[in-house]
Amino acid sequence: MKPGIKSRMRFMMNRLMRGAPPAALLVCWMTVSGLAQTIVPAPVKPPVPAAAAPAPALTPSQITPGTATLSMPAQPAAVAPAPPRLDRLSPLGIKPDWSRLQSFHQTLTRAEFEMLMRDLYSDNSAFPPPWKLEPDGLVVMTGDATKPEARIAFATRPAPPPPGMRTWRRAAELPPLKGRPPLSDVHIAIDPGHIGGSFAIMEERHLSFAPGEAIQEGDLTLTTAQVLAERLKSLGAYVSLVRENASPVTDKRPADLADAARQILIEAGFPKPVEGYAGLTGDAKILTVQWQDEKLFYRVSEIHARAKKVNETIKPDVVLCLHYNAEAWGDAAKPQFSPANHMHVLVNGCYSPVELEQQDVRFEMLHRLFSRMHEEELPLAVAVAGGLRAATGLPAYVYTTPNARHAGDNAYVYARNLLANRTYQCPVVYLEPYVMNNEETYRRLLNGHFIGRTLIAGRLQTSAIEDYVRGVVNGVLAYYQKNRPQ
Ligand SMILES: [Zn+2]
Repeated sequence: MKPGIKSRMRFMMNRLMRGAPPAALLVCWMTVSGLAQTIVPAPVKPPVPAAAAPAPALTPSQITPGTATLSMPAQPAAVAPAPPRLDRLSPLGIKPDWSRLQSFHQTLTRAEFEMLMRDLYSDNSAFPPPWKLEPDGLVVMTGDATKPEARIAFATRPAPPPPGMRTWRRAAELPPLKGRPPLSDVHIAIDPGHIGGSFAIMEERHLSFAPGEAIQEGDLTLTTAQVLAERLKSLGAYVSLVRENASPVTDKRPADLADAARQILIEAGFPKPVEGYAGLTGDAKILTVQWQDEKLFYRVSEIHARAKKVNETIKPDVVLCLHYNAEAWGDAAKPQFSPANHMHVLVNGCYSPVELEQQDVRFEMLHRLFSRMHEEELPLAVAVAGGLRAATGLPAYVYTTPNARHAGDNAYVYARNLLANRTYQCPVVYLEPYVMNNEETYRRLLNGHFIGRTLIAGRLQTSAIEDYVRGVVNGVLAYYQKNRPQ
């Protein structure tokens, strides 16, 4: 790799991580968003002066959902940076209809807005957000030259928007049970994370420690979803699967996204990107059109397609996003076990100022905030975390990176800005139990789903999938039994 590319990558990552230590940087990419293989190694050294490197507009990291975009200063470091551009969209993002926020006029108080930003939606960094907080309203910079500001008036006392403005229902809004099964009327969508099948290697979610055996996260989540769906149905719930097999929901394929991928690399300051990644590793691989178009396919286009399905077709009361976590396993051809094993549950929040510079991200966060989705999402997440903790016995994962924060006071519940929990327009509980490359967990997962106990690695053990399902069911049940009319 050319030294210039390295220094530019380093500079971009410095901006991105805002001074996070190298260890934290690695963890950030390895767990949850979870990709040992998507690490952009970035030794944290003093940034290269901007004048020494062309100012890239976009970076490869931009196509990673939930990570920050960058707006690079075009001047030498001594000159004040230009104000951030607020018209950009996230990769494959759709221009928002800012007028939709008008329907939230006088529904939220200023005190509520400030509390929600402080306790959930912001990452509490010092940078100013792209809006003005006036005594009686919020003035948001839209990034649209024809109508540069959108104003939402604050209420003098909380006046939640009417249920007709959304497709999901709170537990308290469900019809009385009157002796019917406890999850009657609840519409739950289950989103099995990733695609699996023949896409798992491309997704970097295929894990094998010996010839002839493998686990793939996208297949594990589908099996878990199918078992979970039957249990929830037997308790009266109406259940939809966002994905029902090992095929993508999006009709796009990497080749369809090659132009968009090439454009991202060119705008990031790499005018002649290499096409294929055969034989390449590390940064050189990440900077190819192929790596970028594959990522746009399985991580961005796929989630946009699922969001469309959730928002326009399924219209559930809640989405459960199923994942299995992993620690860095190094080279996929020679993976490493990790002694760690843990779990956590995510709600939406923790937006950084640079993420909010993208107009679709800014709009989607404000739409969630004013819709009060967190009022349902957070207590449900706490209940599901309780169920999962009891069923799996796993300790809480501890983030050391700035892309996540605690939401509320439950050790297992964090807020993150992920593409799925931002764009699904209803409460989303996003589950990350188990470390797939923990040796014991790996061997349990190789055994698939079963009831009871079986001999694994010399002792009788339960199915990790069954424990996952049982934990989620108990958490969901506890939440609705407590909060819906009897
Ligand atoms: Zn996952």
